[in-house]
Amino acid sequence: MKRELIIAIDGPSGSGKSTLSRRLATALDYTNIDTGAMYRSVGLAAYRAGIDPGEDGALSALCAGLTIDFLRKDGEERVLLNGEDVSEAIRTPEMSLMASRVSANAAVRKAMLGLQRALGEQGGVILEGRDIGTVVFPGAEVKFFLKASPRERGRRRCQELREKGLDISLEQTIEEVERRDSADTNRLHAPLLRAEDAVVIDTTAMTIDQVLQRMLSVVAERRQQIGSTSVRKELES
Ligand code: C5P
Repeated sequence: MKRELIIAIDGPSGSGKSTLSRRLATALDYTNIDTGAMYRSVGLAAYRAGIDPGEDGALSALCAGLTIDFLRKDGEERVLLNGEDVSEAIRTPEMSLMASRVSANAAVRKAMLGLQRALGEQGGVILEGRDIGTVVFPGAEVKFFLKASPRERGRRRCQELREKGLDISLEQTIEEVERRDSADTNRLHAPLLRAEDAVVIDTTAMTIDQVLQRMLSVVAERRQQIGSTSVRKELES
């Protein structure tokens, strides 16, 4: 039997990836894998262990000894680092920067790549991140690249942080978002890059529902294409 699809969603921070991948996963009854949460967890573990993101050997040993799990509790996705619920601890602006710094390290990326492929290879999954369609699953049946203006992305991020009670200015958030995107885009290993065959959606002036509808129609189209290709193959054999 044909397995369910692998869907890749990439894009910069604040482009709508997390919200949309959750909504799409619910609509399709797929599993959602937030790969950014994995890098954030490594960042938190490194921070707690006093490891500088430039220390290759220490980071590599750190990754070898940690477990990251996703869990659904009371309808919410939780992230467990070595069994501890770190869902809130990894969402601070400090951990955003720490995630971006450790994620530039080749040993960290190698460790996360193995975990992400193991989590997704059965299909019926949506993985969201920066390098899903280019590196983790270049053969994913559906690829999206979400983008939005830096101002709008900063505004969304700022609102998210303020809802959590952080006293943060819009200008400061836009700056932080741009700094992180520039680091993610210009790094050597697995930079933030649009896959050539990704469907690009500019979410700047779109509502969440509008983006979701567009994504669902792309998935439906793709399913039809795959279905007709496999029927043709069967008829030809
Ligand atoms: O998506 P999120 O903002 O939670 O990601 C945090 C950081 O993790 C990003 O800024 C990026 O540096 C890194 N990341 C990555 N590759 C991914 C997902 C996230 O390098 N697939």
